[in-house]
Amino acid sequence: MNFLSLIESKREGKILAPEQIREFIREFTAGKIPDYQMAALLMAVYFRGLNTAETTALTLAMRDSGDVLKFPEDPCPLVDKHSTGGIGDKVSLPLAPLLACLGFRVPMISGRGLGITGGTLDKLDSIPGFKTLLPAAQIIKQVHQVGCVICGQTDKMVPADKKIYALRDASGTVPSIPLITASILSKKLAESLDALILDVKFGGAAFMQTKAAARTLAKAMVALGNECGTDTRAILTDMNTPLGRAAGNWLEVKESVECLEAGRADLPVSRRAPSDLRELVIDSAAHLLVQTKKSKSLTAARRLAEDCLNSGRPRKKWDEMLAAQGADLNAFNRKLALNSTAKAVVELKAEKAGFVSQCDARIIGEVIRDLGGGRLTKESAINYDVGADQIAKPGERVEKAGTLCRVHAADSAQAKAAMARLKTAFEISAKRPAPIRLIQAIIG
Ligand code: URA
Repeated sequence: MNFLSLIESKREGKILAPEQIREFIREFTAGKIPDYQMAALLMAVYFRGLNTAETTALTLAMRDSGDVLKFPEDPCPLVDKHSTGGIGDKVSLPLAPLLACLGFRVPMISGRGLGITGGTLDKLDSIPGFKTLLPAAQIIKQVHQVGCVICGQTDKMVPADKKIYALRDASGTVPSIPLITASILSKKLAESLDALILDVKFGGAAFMQTKAAARTLAKAMVALGNECGTDTRAILTDMNTPLGRAAGNWLEVKESVECLEAGRADLPVSRRAPSDLRELVIDSAAHLLVQTKKSKSLTAARRLAEDCLNSGRPRKKWDEMLAAQGADLNAFNRKLALNSTAKAVVELKAEKAGFVSQCDARIIGEVIRDLGGGRLTKESAINYDVGADQIAKPGERVEKAGTLCRVHAADSAQAKAAMARLKTAFEISAKRPAPIRLIQAIIG
């Protein structure tokens, strides 16, 4: 193919034909187009955009660049959730077993974190023995036998996205709505889903900084998902403040287990899951129940999801999923019982009494990344034990010397440095601030 003339066409704002798009994805995946030419095309797309037909063709061509998971016939719908990422966003962990208990099959193919936002696979890597890299045959078998799996993309799934994403990262072309849409949806469509719920976050610690930008991305993804045959909805959620009270890989696994133990009346208040995490888990499940027509209304669906979560069955399903993926449940339970697995734990105390009026997710995310909980480059090694917990949320009352959060660090010098930065994440005011709604819109 004459790839140079294709770059020139897009540079001039012309529309590419679906066949041209399919061909260049095939050729690029096969190593027949050099990276510098593909980077030039990506930059042309960044400035000129893609229309709906072009974005659809790109998404499907990327999906078909590798294996598409084929599941046996089954009356249980195949569903999944995708989040654009944030601080303390651990929703996938309790959601997968909850969905399995609600009668869904859940092939949750997840990713790793980059920058300040955490990745589901990194969180799961903190569980002793748990394997996140599974061959396609095991993913299919586990979905059939257990009902859910959370794992990484196999080498053979959507190879075009892996190559293109690496180029986008190095060429300043990540923030392009058609490229983001094609990247996210090509991976989700390779799971052969019946329904998909997207959590598109906006705010200081999100990929999309404003609600308007998040809405534009959500609308594009919902339209394309539906056009490609997967019932797709999105919720727009606030990411100015962390989700839940814990951020950092192992600490988030612990909080996810608390969410799954929500129905246990015997647990002390300190071990009850935060209400915002619970709300997002229940609402994500409720939308999928409505999308797949298992519930008639969102209200009925929420009740069903909440009852199921409170029943304790998803907690058992979680253990079943862990065991199926090689986890050592005894070691996991011993680890869960520890107050902390990090070498140094220090409390950040309030300097005055009042109401928390700000708890800045971006600052908290940056501090955790720098403590070793996230990556500065793709090659960075992760410290799974570091992070922050017992985070005081906006609207809550704190007394003087009350806890704003606890910092978990590799040593006391790092904990001290983190405390100085974390202090700037919190503001305390005399008046209770107006409550912030977590879920601000539903698209689709
Ligand atoms: N996540 C993805 O998988 N792809 C993007 O382009 C952006 C976020």
